[in-house]
Amino acid sequence: MIYDPPKPVIKIRNLVKSFGPFTALSGISLDINPSEVVCIIGPSGSGKSTLLRCTAFLEEYTSGEVEIEGRLLGYRKTPAGMVRESERNIDTARRNVGMVFQHFNLWPHMTVLDNVTLGPRLTKGVPAAEVSEKGRIALAKVGLADFTDRYPSRLSGGQQQRVAIARALAMEPHVILFDEPTSALDPQLVGEVLDVMKQLANEGITMVVVTHEMGFAAQVANRVVFMDRGQVVEQGSPDKLFNEPESPRLQEFLDTWR
Ligand code: ADP
Ligand code: MG
Repeated sequence: MIYDPPKPVIKIRNLVKSFGPFTALSGISLDINPSEVVCIIGPSGSGKSTLLRCTAFLEEYTSGEVEIEGRLLGYRKTPAGMVRESERNIDTARRNVGMVFQHFNLWPHMTVLDNVTLGPRLTKGVPAAEVSEKGRIALAKVGLADFTDRYPSRLSGGQQQRVAIARALAMEPHVILFDEPTSALDPQLVGEVLDVMKQLANEGITMVVVTHEMGFAAQVANRVVFMDRGQVVEQGSPDKLFNEPESPRLQEFLDTWR
């Protein structure tokens, strides 16, 4: 029998992103494999958010390639070079990529359930009852089954972020990108969000997590990626990265957290 290795969910090759004269990402290559939890760490301004945003094509990259499950996201290859896909094709391709941000941005005038089901409701052809059921299942997963009819303003920050996670889950994505999901929370609310993320990791959901929570990375990540100045400087198992960092930049970065 021929061994067929798992295909990466996300394949990033030589990704470059410039803002005018400034290069925010200078040639990133990274694979994210099925069911892998990859934590991205690095100093502020090193390009972590830009990497996630380009991966989800919320931001157009300057050159390189991002493939989601073998399909180029955002661009099409033609003999004349890369051509931007139509908005419709981009939306379809992006549907498998969930995103959770630092600021959860829930709609204040919508109930928790309506916030969670807004995405699926905009997807054509799914009956309302089914959408509602999926929303409830997603909310149960983040421990908020009893909060469907509340408004976001009546929830704590931790609960709001769990709603945002349920909102991502309701789209049934194949990978979820988290950008510092606990950075805007009061310290006592961080744990409940990390617990939900741990549980998703245990269920085998593929996750990329930009975080400053080194304890979470050490405990949950299969791989930790250290970025600095728009580059991947070092990556490996959490044990290797935290206990035997090789590059001086990573050593210096870790020193600031000890
Ligand atoms: P991180 O998330 O690691 O803190 P970012 O990806 O947000 O870093 O930013 C990387 C660099 O790119 C920073 O120097 C930032 O100022 C710059 N940058 C990010 N977004 C923009 C933008 N829209 N326009 C200009 N520069 C940007
Ligand atoms: Mg950031």
